[in-house]
Amino acid sequence: MTQSVIKYPIVKPYLPNRDMYQQSVEGIFNRNWLTNNGPLVQELEQNLAMHLGVEHLLLVANGTLALQVAYAALGIKGKVLTTPFSFAATASSLCWDSIEPVFIDVNEQSLNICAQQCHDYLKNTLTHKKREQGDVSAILGVHVFGNPCEVELLEKIAEQANIKVVYDAAHAFATKYANRSVLHYGDASTLSLHATKLFHSVEGGAIIFKHKADYDKAKQLINFGFNSASYPELVGINAKMSEFHAAMGLNVLTNVEHITAQRALLAATYRAELNGSVSMQQWQEHSDEVGAYMPILLKTEQQLSYVMGELLAEGIQTRRYFYPSLSTVPAYGMNGDTPIANDISNRVLCLPMYTDLQVNDVIHIASVLKQVLSRYNA
Ligand SMILES: *Cc1c(COP(=O)(O)O)cnc(C)c1O
Repeated sequence: MTQSVIKYPIVKPYLPNRDMYQQSVEGIFNRNWLTNNGPLVQELEQNLAMHLGVEHLLLVANGTLALQVAYAALGIKGKVLTTPFSFAATASSLCWDSIEPVFIDVNEQSLNICAQQCHDYLKNTLTHKKREQGDVSAILGVHVFGNPCEVELLEKIAEQANIKVVYDAAHAFATKYANRSVLHYGDASTLSLHATKLFHSVEGGAIIFKHKADYDKAKQLINFGFNSASYPELVGINAKMSEFHAAMGLNVLTNVEHITAQRALLAATYRAELNGSVSMQQWQEHSDEVGAYMPILLKTEQQLSYVMGELLAEGIQTRRYFYPSLSTVPAYGMNGDTPIANDISNRVLCLPMYTDLQVNDVIHIASVLKQVLSRYNA
C-alpha cells in the first residue's frame, strides 16, 4: 500500500509575518539582552494581561513548568484531585513533584472533572478530621478542549474543604465564561503557549494568580528563588521565558483577533456539518466554543480505528486526544476508579483544527467523515 499524502494535518503551528518577526529579532541583537525578564517578556506580559483582562500574569518557559511553579507557589502537596481525561503533563507534573494524583471521573457530556464526585470524595475523607500531611490539598481541573469546568461549584467545594483550586487552562486561552476570561477562576490558572496551541510563543507558558502575594512568590521561584538582593531565599527553579520566545508571542498576539475568530468559525462549521452524524462534547452554558481542538466521539474503539484509517487514506490526519486515560497509566499511580473517562478515552478522536484551515476544508472533511461513517454502518 502506498503512503497517503497528508492534505490536512491534525495541527499546524501558526506563523506570524516573517519580516515582522525578523524585526523583533533585530532588536534583540541590538540590545544583546537575550533572557532574564527582558523588555520583550515584560511587554508580552503586559499585552497578554490586557488582552485577557486579567491581573497577576507571569510568563514562564512552558506549560508544564507553569503547573509546577503554581503548585510550589500555592504550597500544594500530598494528594490532588484531578481528571484522567487530559494530556500527560496534567498528571506527570504532579508526580514529578511527588504529589499523588487522585483521579476523579469526568462528566460524560462536558468531558471535564465531575464536581459532584470531588465533593463526595472530600466529604468521605475530610469530615470530622483535621487535615494532616499527605491529605488532599487541591483540586486540579482542566478546561478540556477549552470547555470551562463547573468553576463556581468547584470553588465552593474547595472553599468548604479549605483546599486550593488550580486550573490547567492549556486549552482555554480564548475561553470566556460569563463574558470574561475563564482564567479569572481558581487560585491559579496555567496556560501552555506551545507551538501547537491556539496562541503560542514556540515554547512558553503563563500562570495567572488570584492573589498578588502568590504571583510575587512565583516570580521569585522561576528565577532560582532569588530575592531582590540576589539571595536564594526560596528553593527555586529556572522557568524563565527568553526574548526570542517572547518575540514570537508578541507577533502572534498581533493577529489574535483573527486567530480566535477563525477558530470559532471553524468549530461552529464542524458542529453544523456533523450535527446528528456523530456525538460531540457538550459545551458549558454561558460560554462559546473556541475551536482549540475538534474532538468527536465514536461509538466504539473498533469504529474509531476504522474511521482513523479511512480518513488518513483520504489525506485527513486525526489524533487520539486524549488516550490513554491517565488513571490507567501505571507510572501515574492509578489511584481512582474512572469508568466514564476510560470509555471516552477509548473512542475520542480529534479532527484537523488550525487557524489556516478554511471553512470549505471543514465542509470537505465533514463530508468525507459522514461517508466513512455510513460505510461502516452499512
Ligand atoms: C499542552 C498541554 C500541557 C503542557 O504544556 P507544555 O507547554 O507543552 O509544557 C499541559 N496540559 C495540557 C492539558 C496540555 O494540553
